[in-house]
Amino acid sequence: MAGRVSQSTIEQIRAASDIVDVIGNYFPLKRAGGNHVALCPFHKEKTPSFNINPQRQIYHCFGCHAGGDVFKFIQEYEHVDFMESVNRLAERAGIVLEFEQNPEAEKSRRLKDTLYKIHEQLAQRWHTVLLNDAIGKPARDYLKGRGITEAAVKEFRVGFAPPSWEDTVNWAQAQKHDRQLMEQAGLVASKEGHYYGRFRSRLMFPINDEQGRVIG
Ligand SMILES: [Zn+2]
Ligand SMILES: [Zn+2]
Repeated sequence: MAGRVSQSTIEQIRAASDIVDVIGNYFPLKRAGGNHVALCPFHKEKTPSFNINPQRQIYHCFGCHAGGDVFKFIQEYEHVDFMESVNRLAERAGIVLEFEQNPEAEKSRRLKDTLYKIHEQLAQRWHTVLLNDAIGKPARDYLKGRGITEAAVKEFRVGFAPPSWEDTVNWAQAQKHDRQLMEQAGLVASKEGHYYGRFRSRLMFPINDEQGRVIG
């Protein structure tokens, strides 16, 4: 199994699986007041002691004390485990099962995604600085002097990291990126509690990984 089915998916399946409908598909039920009764499928009997309570969505047999919810009924009646009861009721209700990933793997995947996102955003900012910002003028002039066209700058998404030590730190703050994350991303460093950008007055060439994401 790839992971656990989330509790919310289970509740969604439960809500779509009325216990009277589900059990009523297996054998006939009779109304008795607010409940439904039947001959118990789990023990031999001549008068019905198997009760279904639609309000509470549970069944109970007063003869053999079998009882539970709709998932429990499927498990007992079909001789399957809990996951299989979830599968069958999901299929009956037309609900696609979503699995939770391993929480640790999920956490590290999310962190990696966040770091990628930060690199990507900062690469975009530095690129914009180089193309349009007044701070980028010296870098633009430098590239022009070396015969590098704006088209090439755009194609390779070259950027310019402004000279200020605080620039990246301030940018991160405006973007609400955590400083520790910025440090983990290798974009800021800290000394005696002061954070500063690691890249300053520099042309930046984004390094894309095989998926086209910015990694440095
Ligand atoms: Zn019974
Ligand atoms: Zn009982």
